[in-house]
Amino acid sequence: MNEEQKKAFEAELRAYVGKAIGPPVVARDPVNLPMIRQWCDAMGETHPAYSDEGAGETLHGQVVAPPTMLQAWIMEGWAMHEGYDEPRDEQHRLHKLLTEAGYTGVLGTNTEEHYDRYLKLGDVVTAVTTIDEISEEKATGAGIGYFVTTRTVFEDQEGESLGWMSFRVLKFKPPAGQQAAASGDEAAISTAPTRMKPPAGHDNAWWWQKIADEDVLPIQRCADCQKLRHPPRPMCDACGSQRFDSVAASGRGTVHTFTVIHYPQVPGYDYPLVSIIVDLEEGERMVSTLVDCKPEDCRIGLPVAVVIHEDEDGFKIPFFRPAG
Ligand SMILES: [Zn+2]
Repeated sequence: MNEEQKKAFEAELRAYVGKAIGPPVVARDPVNLPMIRQWCDAMGETHPAYSDEGAGETLHGQVVAPPTMLQAWIMEGWAMHEGYDEPRDEQHRLHKLLTEAGYTGVLGTNTEEHYDRYLKLGDVVTAVTTIDEISEEKATGAGIGYFVTTRTVFEDQEGESLGWMSFRVLKFKPPAGQQAAASGDEAAISTAPTRMKPPAGHDNAWWWQKIADEDVLPIQRCADCQKLRHPPRPMCDACGSQRFDSVAASGRGTVHTFTVIHYPQVPGYDYPLVSIIVDLEEGERMVSTLVDCKPEDCRIGLPVAVVIHEDEDGFKIPFFRPAG
């Protein structure tokens, strides 16, 4: 693309900013107990406000839905994705435009949610999603690309605001190094990107630093009631304390569940990628990657042991391998 073509391309992108991606999406079902129950089971959420057994005793006086379920009410089933090649809405049209210009990769980068009130049984959720922002072209660890942010506003049956969610993706050009790796071009391989770094913020940077410094798998521990928690977060859910230290995990555990990822392939990772949730011996759960194991040999209950992996650029990350 020369300068002029790029200008025209970017103008075409900008035309999407502020556009609703389609008509409002109305939840297929009103807020209901079975969906709340399923969601709580899947998430391990046991607060009585979300159960018909205990909700009457809570300040809500009736069953309410977990606020973080907000998007679940308007999510489409997988069957809705048939015929995905044809853009179905403005967001897909925008993504197709980027894909055809060579920005073929896509990564979800961050999301933010805000809740205005608890949903009660019978509420009907309606959502309108708008393309909120498209960044300048950026150079990232994954390749050059554009960050596209959408904003979804949720309302109830009276048009009262329930909350909103912003979601940002990076549409990027997989770097030439990645393509060279497939063709065996040694000179180009050395420029292949390494793994994208996980976000390390105020609440979890210490965790990554401890791995880097001490080659251990840390688990956060409440400094007051001693309860363990993972992933790292600012407050103890047992006693409310914000004071914490950590313990070094034994590194032993079992595979709670897993999925084998073939596609989309993100630069810096090996595929097929066996993504696992580990039940650590200490009782916490952790998302990680299984290494030194064929995907077909992974199974639920597989005993695993941690291995602190070091990327070529020195970045350390805990993986697991079959134990013994
Ligand atoms: Zn505590």
